[in-house]
Amino acid sequence: MAQQFDVVVIGAGPGGYVAAIRCAQLGLKTACIEKWQDDKGKPVYGGTCLNVGCIPSKALLDSSHRYHDATHGLAVHGISAGEVSMDIPAMMGRKRQIVSQLTGGIAGLLKANGVTALSGSGRLLAGRKVEFTPQGGAPELIEAANVILATGSSPIEIPPARFDGDRIVDSTGALEFSEVPKRLGVVGAGVIGLELGSVWARLGAEVVVIEALPEFLMMVDQQVSKEAYKLFTKQQGLDIRLNARVTGTSVVDGRVNVTYLDGDAEKQESFDRLIVAVGRRPVTKGLLAADSGVNLDERGFVHVNDFCQTDMPGVFAVGDIVRGPMLAHKAMEEGVMVAERISGRKTQLNYDCIPSIIYTHPEIAWVGANEQQLKAAGTPYTAGVFPFVASGRAMAANDTAGMVKILRHEETDRILGCHIIGPSAADLVQQMVIAMEFGATAEDIALIVFGHPSLSEGVHEAALAALGHAIHIPNRKKK
Ligand code: FAD
Ligand code: NAD
Repeated sequence: MAQQFDVVVIGAGPGGYVAAIRCAQLGLKTACIEKWQDDKGKPVYGGTCLNVGCIPSKALLDSSHRYHDATHGLAVHGISAGEVSMDIPAMMGRKRQIVSQLTGGIAGLLKANGVTALSGSGRLLAGRKVEFTPQGGAPELIEAANVILATGSSPIEIPPARFDGDRIVDSTGALEFSEVPKRLGVVGAGVIGLELGSVWARLGAEVVVIEALPEFLMMVDQQVSKEAYKLFTKQQGLDIRLNARVTGTSVVDGRVNVTYLDGDAEKQESFDRLIVAVGRRPVTKGLLAADSGVNLDERGFVHVNDFCQTDMPGVFAVGDIVRGPMLAHKAMEEGVMVAERISGRKTQLNYDCIPSIIYTHPEIAWVGANEQQLKAAGTPYTAGVFPFVASGRAMAANDTAGMVKILRHEETDRILGCHIIGPSAADLVQQMVIAMEFGATAEDIALIVFGHPSLSEGVHEAALAALGHAIHIPNRKKK
């Protein structure tokens, strides 16, 4: 007889494993199918995020930041460290150790919560039946009252720069270089291009970023993206070429030759390695039988409503395979929402309050609407900006580049958005995520006591500036 579960989750990335754990916590008999294995055939949980995404990239960002700081940032403090050297295998070993500790932790969490972890591949059939093919085994049928699809995303490959796994690589390959490329090309000035380009630039590579769009970081508040462009090109050593489209690549004698159109002019570059990071696409190939009742939208994502319900009752989809930003925290919270809705709760997700972070130096982080969006919508607003150069804490840390910017509704005073480039932007923006979730006004923030000296004072002062009475910077003249 087919195994039966209240919930079967397909995929154990942040969307899937969190959904499975929450379902089990709510008393639902839950199975989670994951096909990822290590090179010894052992099941691996955590998906893109833990294995080849958020975690390994942040491990290398942190290591490379320390190296850069040791070689460029100590003299100002009156410290000299003598000769600083770099051990790439040790850096990679640390990264792998963090990944294996965390992925092993997920296996433990699934077990501790009573989730049945199934190693193999899942496919949705008609009537919410799931075909489970264990690694190296024959397909079995599982019956499920509910199914959660969480199969994630994979890198987009473009015809002029096909991945060869050696010289032309995707983000996974870029996390595994065994030495620092002398000259590194990056196609795409998006989140991955900037983060991984920064890693190798800090370790000494000459990095050229080729971006098709004429504007830098289109999704970011323009004041912040302009500042970022200035800082990344002048201080972080990234040579960013906008309005540039790759037309072809060839690998000759271990070098990657790239041709690209710079406006109308054809140009050439030669690199030791090329990272192609032009976006990711949802993984749905082979996942859905023709009569599964689940449909894809016009962009190939699984079609869902605001509650992650697909077109088939009892089948849900979360994370990178559905609309919205491809972010681990978005995937996790969708997983929680779906688990709670299956158990009869009315949980919702506020898609307007999902923070985004780019882990460059300085970091970029934002939540809510940006200035160009408010202008386009005709929303009356005022902006308050506090530059870190006026922050005592930032000065003490010799980390004064960037700003906090808060946008408030001119009539209701509600905070509409917060945009930060600067030290600890990822953690600072979370304060505004909480404030916005509670419907805070700029005045609410103005009346809160912030510890001194702290970078958080930048948030306080930006709110005060939006109200026109900042204390530690001159205020805009009233119109
Ligand atoms: P995934 O994490 O992709 O997991 C899907 C899982 O499903 C995989 O384990 C896969 O093996 C499994 N699977 C697929 N098909 C099947 C099947 N048929 N049967 C069984 N199992 C299957 N996001 C952030 O928020 N912050 C960051 O700092 C960040 N950094 C990133 C850095 C890089 C280099 C990359 C590539 C991504 C980064 N992301 C980051 C994005 C983040 O990794 C994804 O948004 C997140 O992993 C999506 O979670 P998910 O559960 O939807 O999918
Ligand atoms: P992205 O969408 O962030 O950036 C891709 C960039 O490539 C864009 O600027 C695009 O204009 C450019 N591009 C597209 N085609 C091109 C071409 N032919 N030539 C030159 N440029 C081209 O995608 P990504 O950087 O690959 O990241 C994928 C996803 O992973 C993102 O959605 C992101 O949310 C997620 N991610 C998040 C984090 C984080 O949260 N810190 C880190 C890494 C990845």
